[in-house]
Amino acid sequence: MKDPLPLQIRSSVVYNNLCAMCDKCYIGGTIHGLEDRIKEHKSACIKCDTEKSALAEHARREGHHTAWEKVTILDDERRMFGLIIKEALHIKNCKKPLLNR
Ligand SMILES: [Zn+2]
Repeated sequence: MKDPLPLQIRSSVVYNNLCAMCDKCYIGGTIHGLEDRIKEHKSACIKCDTEKSALAEHARREGHHTAWEKVTILDDERRMFGLIIKEALHIKNCKKPLLNR
């Protein structure tokens, strides 16, 4: 088996962000680099921009913070349409409480 690419430079993925302080999580999909998407979430959290990120909304409401180092990749898909479907399936099948809105 080949070494997997470092998480940060992956693109076209469905990812899972965990809250560091409760068992809620956020599932998202991005066709662009995962690192850029995570940066957007982080910056939204710092700016309390709840419109841009459900993680920022959770941080503001509950005072929780995201376990950025624990982001995991659930799936990958190069086609935009496929990515949307896979994201929706992971959201549907997730056993944990979700922050997705
Ligand atoms: Zn939380």
